[in-house]
Amino acid sequence: MVASPPAAARTWTPDSWRTMPIKQTPTYPDQEAVEAVEKRLRGGLPLVFSGETDRLTEALARASQGKAFVLQGGDCAESFDEFAKYGGNNIADTFMVLMQMSIVLTYAIGPVVKIGRMAGQFAKPRSSAVERAKNAALSLPSYRGDMINGEAFEESARVPDPERMWTAFMQSTATMNLLRTLATGGALDLSRVQDINLKFVEGTPAGSRFSEYVRHVSNALRFMNSCGVPVDSPALRAAEFYVSHEALLLPYEESLCRPGARDSGKVYATSGHFLWLGDRTRQVDGAHVEFLRGIANPIGIKCGPTLDPAELLQLLAILNPDNTPGRITLITRMGAAKVATSLPPLIRAVQSAGAVVTWVCDPMHGNTESSPSGYKTRPFENVLEEVRGFFAVHAAEGSIAGGMHLELTGQDVTECVGGMQALSHEDLANRYESSCDPRLNASQALELSFLVPAGTGS
Ligand code: PEP
Ligand code: MN
Repeated sequence: MVASPPAAARTWTPDSWRTMPIKQTPTYPDQEAVEAVEKRLRGGLPLVFSGETDRLTEALARASQGKAFVLQGGDCAESFDEFAKYGGNNIADTFMVLMQMSIVLTYAIGPVVKIGRMAGQFAKPRSSAVERAKNAALSLPSYRGDMINGEAFEESARVPDPERMWTAFMQSTATMNLLRTLATGGALDLSRVQDINLKFVEGTPAGSRFSEYVRHVSNALRFMNSCGVPVDSPALRAAEFYVSHEALLLPYEESLCRPGARDSGKVYATSGHFLWLGDRTRQVDGAHVEFLRGIANPIGIKCGPTLDPAELLQLLAILNPDNTPGRITLITRMGAAKVATSLPPLIRAVQSAGAVVTWVCDPMHGNTESSPSGYKTRPFENVLEEVRGFFAVHAAEGSIAGGMHLELTGQDVTECVGGMQALSHEDLANRYESSCDPRLNASQALELSFLVPAGTGS
């Protein structure tokens, strides 16, 4: 077989990924039906605009220098049922937790780049193509996220349905609309910072600690006001909020590609501001890398313990040949036990190549375990330990710890054990709602924001 030419020598088009080997993609039973949905999506309105997307690249470039800190978070997988059940309240609550965390972080360390895993986070890579029922011999194709098939353990639900791409697009559009309203419509008016709280967090230890920050911020604003500095400035009333998801389902991503403004010659994915490459689809000659190399958005690369430093450098050469600051965010997810040994070789490789990247810690995906009670969980202590390890390694290597990437929800769920509320394995059954990986609840997430060392991001 003739080897394909190096990426830089090949022409990129939004559909050039189609000739490359692809992993984690559904096999649709009816290709014509897929094409019909793709056509509708090609006529759909963009969810995000190129100017906003470029602003995010600039903000991430500041984070790569330690002048800002990235806070990225949301569900493991968004869900059609939750959207219908909560009527947007779950989205507003997750937005609120991210805002609470960003108040803590802004006060403690400096500017925060706020990015939701929202408005498009519907397709999931799976470690196995089949799933077995808990107490039965029956196995079915794995659930791959609501954008692809259904979660119900029934043969018909697991057949990939292209109409789900359209439903996900419509839900993303509505989600984006709500997020824009929340971000600019006064939900984060710092002159009313005492109103920024979730009821059920108020009664938790993290909630009490958050109140101290609220007091500090209120006092600082009162002080500024007394000095004659106007505190009703638009900058205090609105939050810049971005959305992101894993670029897994390429027919969807390709169909939402649009040219940039003013004949820039660039092509943007308009399904979200920031797209990332999953740990299971980062093959240098694979379809996902091919798709991402041509879009002008800032992109993330999930870096797990199996990523070889030489392979990382190859990925950087393909995905960011001009070494543009802010273009690449490396989201490391090593696990608490491995972060001290697996992260330094990647940092050293990046440093020796002179590559500019933004380092972000995902302390979730390397710390997933099965609970004796049968649920997938993450011990909060291990999440904390990986975050601490991430900061320690970057301090030792002289690199910049640029942010955190979390699976969290504003709902009072019981999915990760531990935390100041000391959730036990038996507690998991109380309110376990994730259709995929276990999320931090609001007070656990808030606890993490108290952990970022002073001096980071300044
Ligand atoms: C995820 O972020 O939900 C995910 C699947 O991550 P990873 O690719 O790092 O396993
Ligand atoms: Mn996940």
